[in-house]
Amino acid sequence: MSTIKDIAESYQTFDPAAYLQNNYVPPRADFSDPDSVVAWKLKCLADACASGEIGGQILVDIGSGPTVYQVLSAFELFKEVILTDFLAVNREELKKWLHDEPGAFDWGPFINHVCSIEGKGEPWQEKRKRLRERVSRVIPVNVHQPCPLGTELAPGTVDALVSSFCLEACSPDYPAFVKALQNITGLLKPGGHVLMIGALEESYFLAGEAKLSVASFTEEMTRKAFQDMGYVIRDFRSYTMPESMKVGVDDVKGISFVWAQKKESN
Ligand code: SAM
Repeated sequence: MSTIKDIAESYQTFDPAAYLQNNYVPPRADFSDPDSVVAWKLKCLADACASGEIGGQILVDIGSGPTVYQVLSAFELFKEVILTDFLAVNREELKKWLHDEPGAFDWGPFINHVCSIEGKGEPWQEKRKRLRERVSRVIPVNVHQPCPLGTELAPGTVDALVSSFCLEACSPDYPAFVKALQNITGLLKPGGHVLMIGALEESYFLAGEAKLSVASFTEEMTRKAFQDMGYVIRDFRSYTMPESMKVGVDDVKGISFVWAQKKESN
């Protein structure tokens, strides 16, 4: 049975390039395949963001890792976007992309896909430029701390949170996941929104040398965690991993998408 400390240690060999290669190239990111998991995730996020109900000053992405796909719809609705990760290697990978440095991952196909969902006919390069301008900071985070962003952002100051595959991927068990959800909920203003994508019934994933253990739980447990925390669930969707997306880099069975709103009275 691993602990929060064991998991933090196993992240020390996390390889951002290997993680990107495992998850963000075809078949998982094949935009010509309607079953592609990445296309499903982008559609969930785009639909919530098209509702007209989400927006404000500050959006924080919790546990960005080396990826930006998860904010491609939401960033447009906020004045300032803050990316965060536990590992310096991931924060460096993000900065490489933000500064358009050689060797940065190519998020072009993902941005292009989100532009086609939005259907405004906008050249994807314009969205890329706007996102690069909108990100104000890339900062450390630890969801196991009562103030996950330390002194950078005080509790109750954030309008919305995005988080993808973070809380379960750094928690030893379901109670630790619930506690981490409580910690990030503290950052949100009353009435603030969370868009969360998470793994269902996954016990591990690989990122180069690193084998990370994941807190494994079901769709119902995900839903319950949000309800018990005092959120109203605005949308909940799940995806079953098809055989074609099982590429030997994890044992994930499915994915959940939650759009939840913190109650005004919390
Ligand atoms: N958000 C990305 C995505 O959608 O692919 C990356 C998810 S990756 C599976 C999990 C991320 O959680 C890693 O980037 C890792 O550095 C981060 N992480 C590990 N321990 C953490 C902690 N205690 N608090 C916050 N994030 C943590």
